[in-house]
Amino acid sequence: MISYQICPIDPHAHLFEVKITIQAPAPRQELWLPSWIPGSYMVRDFCRNIIDLKAFDEQERPLSITQLDKQRWQIDSNAESLHLRYSVYAWDMSVRSAHLDQTHGFFNGSSVFLAVAGKELEPLELEIQPPKEEANWQLATTLSRTEGEEWQFGRFSAANYDELIDHPVEMGTFTHGSFEACGVRHDVILTGRHRCHMPRLLDDLKAICESQIRLFGEAPFERYLFMTQVLGNGFGGLEHRASTALHCSRKDLPLSMEMPVNKDYRTYLSLCSHEYFHSWNVKRIKPASFIPYALEAESYTRQLWAYEGITSYYDDLMTLRANRISNEQYLEMLSQTMTRVYRMPGRQLQSLTESSFNAWTKFYKQDENAANAIVSYYTKGALFALYLDLTLRLETQGKYTLDNLMQKLWQAFGSQGIGTEDDSHRRLYEELLGRDASAEFAFLDNTQELPLAPLLAQFGIEMQLRSAQGAQDQGGGDVEGQKIGLGARYKAEALGLRIVSVTNGSAAHSAGLAAQDLLIAANGLQVGALFENELQQYEPGDSLELH
Ligand code: ZN
Repeated sequence: MISYQICPIDPHAHLFEVKITIQAPAPRQELWLPSWIPGSYMVRDFCRNIIDLKAFDEQERPLSITQLDKQRWQIDSNAESLHLRYSVYAWDMSVRSAHLDQTHGFFNGSSVFLAVAGKELEPLELEIQPPKEEANWQLATTLSRTEGEEWQFGRFSAANYDELIDHPVEMGTFTHGSFEACGVRHDVILTGRHRCHMPRLLDDLKAICESQIRLFGEAPFERYLFMTQVLGNGFGGLEHRASTALHCSRKDLPLSMEMPVNKDYRTYLSLCSHEYFHSWNVKRIKPASFIPYALEAESYTRQLWAYEGITSYYDDLMTLRANRISNEQYLEMLSQTMTRVYRMPGRQLQSLTESSFNAWTKFYKQDENAANAIVSYYTKGALFALYLDLTLRLETQGKYTLDNLMQKLWQAFGSQGIGTEDDSHRRLYEELLGRDASAEFAFLDNTQELPLAPLLAQFGIEMQLRSAQGAQDQGGGDVEGQKIGLGARYKAEALGLRIVSVTNGSAAHSAGLAAQDLLIAANGLQVGALFENELQQYEPGDSLELH
């Protein structure tokens, strides 16, 4: 048995202390830490936060440790049991790593627990201890509890290392609510200051969860936990097998039962819907190359369009199907997804499968040139899912929809623990469509525009393109665009406009503006936040002298 113990030993210094006991270790026992966390495809080198690693034998005699690489260590001994002790610096306010201060603690196991090499498949036990100073802290996690009251610190178990690191842990003081969806218990906790009207949030989440469980026919877990850190300004989420860790902004939460679903709350509900959909689509239906996850280096797949794109298609759609937003709101969200794709000239250079494969170095490491060079497997993947759905609905006269594809994926792969290959989605889609679908799936590998307008027209929806109303315009709405655009994103500063990025083919590109430039004046007049409005007094083709 391998046992872990973790304690928020010094919240002021943001330090967790971790102890590991390994019975009957190998004579040359290696230990390693993941370099990335499943769901977020970037090497993050969590090892950089491991401090003061020490090893002892059963008599507490120190053992020497040989470091093999940035995240792997070896201990040579004849000990009957090995005892390791180290600290983890936890000051990353994100859902991907670990964070600890005097108000709360949060961690993913992939940031704090060294894996015992060769014993990754063995059962583990874990004790989570409270901080000494904070007597009233509670604990939330979906790890299976072996000792202690619900919401209290205690002991837990996991069948293997993969399970240990797939149940994030939140500790502190939080608001709690719960509901049942299709007979399955769901808990919701909110950490941080907020004025959320919990009954409203629970009501909306219940409807969204039920619509998803009905889509797949069954919930893949016995219990589910939404845990949200409420911040002044935050957004993000990461999916896990029975929970999700989320960040939202205070303004995103509902204040009453009656409040209409505004844009902020809509964004939060879609985020919850997105991560929940991942419970099936990527946590269980997943690429074969992710079974098991290879966590010490990049793990490549050409299928993120299916796991993030289809999930992005369904996040808004399930919110609509759960009757939480109107058709008009849904179409506005769809327009905004389209806008994000059309705003990126890189869609003409990179395909969805290339975008998936290069997530590690491109999508997750976007610089000022990203829009010119890449396409998002989230947004274009969502449009590809829409394209597949509409095509299927049209050709089968509504007999089949993309829901049927998801059900087939769940039955053939997810529920069986079998991973998908690069052609699995196409093959199941062809079974529904009743013909070869290589023409449709060619859009995964080429950079042609998806023919959405003619498809949408057959469902009574007119798709129109318009020019932007400025750099902040997210798209959607029946409004007039501006006739003159700079073609650059910028931030207003005291002295002028700081260029953030330049779109290839735009006026800014022709003029030789570059990211980081400070635009001070146009035709001798100082420029400010209203620059794009002021541009409208010119005609296309006019020239401006820029300083
Ligand atoms: Zn996602």
